[in-house]
Amino acid sequence: MSSRQNDCEGELLAIIRETVGEEVAVGALLDRHTNLSSQMLAAADLVVSCREYPHTDYARRAGEMLPVLGRIRRGDARPTTAAVRFMAPGAYPTTSEPMIGFNERLIEAQQTPGVLMVSANHGFEGSDQPDVSASIVVTTDDDPDFAASLAQQVAADFRTVITGRSWVGPGVEEAVSMALAFDDRPVVVADRADNAGGGAAGDSTFVLAELIRQGARDVAVALLWDPVAVDICHDAGVGASLPLRIGGKTGPMSGDPIDVVAEIISVRSDSAQSLFGLGDPNFPLGRTAAIRVGGIEIVMATVRSQVFSRHVFTDHGIDPLTRRVLVVKSTQHFMNDFGPIAAHVIRCDGPGTLTADLSTLPYRHVRRPMLGLDPVDTVELEAMAPVPARPRRRDRQIV
Ligand SMILES: [Zn+2]
Repeated sequence: MSSRQNDCEGELLAIIRETVGEEVAVGALLDRHTNLSSQMLAAADLVVSCREYPHTDYARRAGEMLPVLGRIRRGDARPTTAAVRFMAPGAYPTTSEPMIGFNERLIEAQQTPGVLMVSANHGFEGSDQPDVSASIVVTTDDDPDFAASLAQQVAADFRTVITGRSWVGPGVEEAVSMALAFDDRPVVVADRADNAGGGAAGDSTFVLAELIRQGARDVAVALLWDPVAVDICHDAGVGASLPLRIGGKTGPMSGDPIDVVAEIISVRSDSAQSLFGLGDPNFPLGRTAAIRVGGIEIVMATVRSQVFSRHVFTDHGIDPLTRRVLVVKSTQHFMNDFGPIAAHVIRCDGPGTLTADLSTLPYRHVRRPMLGLDPVDTVELEAMAPVPARPRRRDRQIV
């Protein structure tokens, strides 16, 4: 694989640098799931990632970056960057420990005198390319040795946090049993393995089949990607009751389709949700439909999307506060909007494209050994090539 095929951010930054020249300060603000590359580091003055997962802090991080870029452009700061990566990519929520504490230490590290920016990347284990990894990026003001030592120190801390516990949740049967055993509501079950945001189809039926098998009632499920079933519901109209084959269309990772008798309770063409659960609903879902199957309500969409906000339910008259269990196809981005209302959150790690059992996935290009894929308890820290400050004219007139 050439970098052209697998490092689009690195290539984009290289083209930007080539276009704007060496005098312009270039910063990249990235998703925390970044698979960091040497090409990205070499092309930019600052490579920064959001700190939160769910990614609710892009604006805050941009606000931290922009004054630093101004100082760099004016020649008041000389960015020297060091990065350390290690093969433990994964999904590490910052809404709970140990990542809350780690993020606090990350902020402290960035506030150290002489430090410009510090970022931690989870990497993305759903990718299969040589730059997949967790990583730390430290940029100091003209102090490459300090950047290197601080990057090593923070990376060692991050590795300890990641390797110190299991990040794998209960399987489908156990997760459904756990959810139905609670008395308080709503219990939110995250169907992480079928998160369309991570590349899954969004039409897997493993959790739904288990809910039906266990006779679950007072449960709502979203979002099942099934454009054909949605069209049928729109054609049949609200109030119709009809046999319907739902989900499980895309492939083996989606499970089998389920034959149900569906009562159509709502259809819409204007549904939307809020990206990362922030602000007004601005993320369109295309045509959607809600059906009732026994004691289970299922919201289906024509746009493949993970669940970000409660709008997926409320748009169809389903009050999430009153349901016993809410199943959301999402890994962690649901938490900003569902976390505050959840009596309990269960992260279900069933089969599917984003399975937590990495040993079942056909990786070909990631570097080895990788935590979770290979039988290792820890992995080596790898210092990436240091990035010296670019020579710049000192020019206070141009910002
Ligand atoms: Zn992300």
